[in-house]
This record gives sequence, C-alpha cells and structure tokens, in this order.
Amino acid sequence: MRVLLVEDDQDLGSAIKRGLEQRQITVDWLQRGRDVAPIVKTESIDAVILDLGLPDLDGVDVLKQVRAAKSQTPVIVLTARADIDDRVNSLDAGADDYMVKPFDLRELEARLRSIVRRSLGRAESFIAWRDYQFDPAGPQLRQGDQTIDLPAKALVVFEALLNSAGRPVSKTILENALYGWDEGVASNAIEVYIHQIRKHLGSDAVKTIRGVGYMLPR
Ligand code: CA
Repeated sequence: MRVLLVEDDQDLGSAIKRGLEQRQITVDWLQRGRDVAPIVKTESIDAVILDLGLPDLDGVDVLKQVRAAKSQTPVIVLTARADIDDRVNSLDAGADDYMVKPFDLRELEARLRSIVRRSLGRAESFIAWRDYQFDPAGPQLRQGDQTIDLPAKALVVFEALLNSAGRPVSKTILENALYGWDEGVASNAIEVYIHQIRKHLGSDAVKTIRGVGYMLPR
C-alpha cells in the first residue's frame, strides 16, 4: 500500500511516516497542500492522510481540489480541532474518514486498511486467492493452517498483484507500491520479489506479461 501523507508538523509527520513504514506501508510525505491534487491525479496512491491545518491552504480546500479533479482516492482527514464543523465540512467535501489528534497509530493504520478495502469494493478483511488467504493487516499469507514465509517486500508486491488479480500490473506500479520518493529503486528489485513469490507459490502463480508487467491469474 502506498499513501500520501500531508502534514506540516515535523514531529508528527515523521512519527506517522516511520510508524507506517514499519508496517510495510510506503509513505510519501508533503508538508504543503498545493501539490496534493495534481499528485493524487497522476501517481498511483492508495490513500491520502490529510491534515486540515496546513500553512498554505486549508485542508478542506485541498480535499475539494482532489475531488474536483475527479479523483476517487480515499482520504482520511487529521484534525487537531475539536470543532464539529470541521469534521462535517470535510466529510461533506469528500473525506472518507477522520481522526482527531492525538491518535494511536494502530488506529490510523486500521482505518487506512478499511478505507482502501472499501475503495476496492471488498467487505471482508481477508482476500482469498486460489486456496490461499491474504490478511493485509499482518500482512500475512496463509494456506490452511500454514503461514507462507514470504519476505515482507515480496508480500507488498503480492498484495499489489492481488488487488488487480486477472489484470496486468506494470513494473512501475509495483515499484510505487514498494518505494517512496526518497528511496532508490534497485533495477532488478521487482524481478527478485516475483522470483520469491513463484518459489513459494509455484511457477504459475505470477505470469510475466511481456512489455507490460506481471499478472496474478484469477
Ligand atoms: Ca498542521
């Protein structure tokens, strides 16, 4: 999962980024609101965490720009304000959920997974594929009682393929799921993780679509 964090508070922003990255969520962090709508429109972002009190634009206006650009990307609003009007206004402007500071990172993470799940049209927290069960909250992949011992980054790639099962996924989208802006991408990283997935799940688990990317057959 790749999220865009928009938060001008240095301490809070780095705590959120660090905490989510420990759970294998890729976080790109902006401290201002003006670039949010164009980035959400052009990059493959699964969810936005948006602070309402930004130095350049009001968070509610940022949200309106995102929705005016016809983006359906789920948004969680962060507010330090006790004012109920802020929450009502942001929900009316297209926010999917909100959190009042201070909050527990585990709750933010659970709410992120919930809004991303809903945006993908799923009601259950587990995703079934063949006789496997994937739990995004772990993240963990099981087959019956057995946990599949896939490395964490291979699980991120698997989840991205699983969310588009039956459709090809480009290498760029897989790289975006794995790495934020400030991380370098090793040129053969995706191939390494695909190899690990095939080693554990069988060589037919991931199809190479030449010139396009990879696909998890349904
Ligand atoms: Ca702020």
